[in-house]
Amino acid sequence: MSRVAVVGSSILDVAVVTPRFPRPGETVRPDALGLYPGGKGFNQALALSRLGHETLFISRLGDDPLAEVFRREMAVAGIDGAHVGTDPAGTGVGIPIIVPGGDCRILAHPRANLGLTPTDVAAAADELARCAAVLAQLEVPVAVVTRAFDIVKKSGGLTVLNAAPAAGLPAEIWPLIDVLVVNEVEASFYAGVDVNDVELAKNALPRLRKLGPPSIVITLGAAGLVCGGEDGEIVLPAHGVEAVDSTGAGDAFCGAMAAGLVEGLSFADSLKRANAAGAFAVTRMGAGPSMPTRAELDRFLKGRDVF
Ligand code: ADP
Repeated sequence: MSRVAVVGSSILDVAVVTPRFPRPGETVRPDALGLYPGGKGFNQALALSRLGHETLFISRLGDDPLAEVFRREMAVAGIDGAHVGTDPAGTGVGIPIIVPGGDCRILAHPRANLGLTPTDVAAAADELARCAAVLAQLEVPVAVVTRAFDIVKKSGGLTVLNAAPAAGLPAEIWPLIDVLVVNEVEASFYAGVDVNDVELAKNALPRLRKLGPPSIVITLGAAGLVCGGEDGEIVLPAHGVEAVDSTGAGDAFCGAMAAGLVEGLSFADSLKRANAAGAFAVTRMGAGPSMPTRAELDRFLKGRDVF
């Protein structure tokens, strides 16, 4: 299996499931509480390592007990955390508050993630240059992503940007992106047009391609995905699954997409695996546990070879 790098965030989710949101001045005892190491970066690193790839993760944690949760998970998953640095700002924390029916409000602070610098990336330049691909998101400063893409591109690797959450990007990053993956909200932001169904997503493709990336993937949740690339347009419906929790669907999708491409699968076949990984993720609670292993993904796809 190839070596792949992920540059991105580590955020510890303190998730609570509560009968209702507290009113001002009120304390509510939640029905359940869980601590989940996450963040788009960590989730995508986990996705790649579960699929069997040697994964180099570049991120920052605090000098605190929360960081230990990540270091332990990385060790268990076999993620190379030698370039996961320590930052005085403390480990990033998210507090999703979930009420019956799935309505969710989130408080989140990136903390250490904001301290990641291009110098951290430069310190990993030799390892990055040996990676077949780099996968990044935008929960860390964009200058960090630009630096990593520049290194990997110069050494002939593939660059995949999950441009989430949507953020204004500097002109110099666009020519460095081989594959852009966005959901409908992000696609609307970057294309400057409304994107909330397959037809609108198709219309947005040329606008996104004009920004630079030769391949664009727009994920549409339960409506599947639309992709535009050098081999033309691909539209895939989503798998019919019983949705339990959509957290992590996009991360499972991006990890499997990058995995497929570095394994030498065609774009179409990589998308099929990513589409299945995304569907698998919505059938499980939380983000980390939603990332399928290679065996789970193969099993899921068996008998579903229509798309
Ligand atoms: P994000 O989590 O980034 O917003 P999406 O919600 O678009 O991403 O989901 C990413 C991918 O996961 C979709 O393109 C699809 O392949 C899969 N997916 C998401 N939600 C569902 C669902 N309810 N049923 C089946 N597949 C889904």
